[in-house]
Amino acid sequence: MATLKDEIENRVKEYDYWARRRRYGADGHNNRRLWVLACMDERLPIDEALGIHVDSPAGGGDAHCFRNAGGIVTDDAIRSAMLTCNFFGTNEIVIVQHTQCGMLSANAKDLEAALKGRGVDTDNLTLDPSLPELKLDKGAFAKWIGMMDDVDQACMRTIEAFKNHPLIPKGITVSGWIWEVETRRLRAPTMDAEKRARTDVTSTQFGVKAKQPARWSAARAETAHAHV
Ligand SMILES: [Zn+2]
Repeated sequence: MATLKDEIENRVKEYDYWARRRRYGADGHNNRRLWVLACMDERLPIDEALGIHVDSPAGGGDAHCFRNAGGIVTDDAIRSAMLTCNFFGTNEIVIVQHTQCGMLSANAKDLEAALKGRGVDTDNLTLDPSLPELKLDKGAFAKWIGMMDDVDQACMRTIEAFKNHPLIPKGITVSGWIWEVETRRLRAPTMDAEKRARTDVTSTQFGVKAKQPARWSAARAETAHAHV
């Protein structure tokens, strides 16, 4: 029978390894070898939605978690996924977007106009002061904001973007989910009107009149629709 001394010694050893995980590259992976991309919204509880413990308790840590407005694909989401999937032993990506998302609540063109009204020159911006090389083409700012017309559609396109990106290794499992804020349920993204009826998932439901400036090319949109 192991003595308490043995148990404590093991625990201390395991904790030391855990604390230094990143030194061991792919051998120091998080518990579930998982990267989560989620909207920053405070009504989206990642642990509850996915049944995991992202970053607690100490000594645990199921996933690397990246949150941005919408839980959409952006250059920094790709950068973070590239690092964890290629170098830190992650082999699964889970994307979580949600109903009632603020990214449905306005048209990006109106947001850009508001910023211009506050004196921001949206056609000549340094997005990242540490990387001035990262530039948007003139007129691309509203697209960059990434407002959505439809959260289920955005989720499906985000899944495809990670599945097809050259910086994400083939063989990584990618799935995407919608958290229903109204019912506290997780469901697969769908265009089935009946399954979406109990939730607000489109910008139209928020009273937004015009379509968002297209963030996806026509070709990409068709690829995404093929999987609907
Ligand atoms: Zn959101």
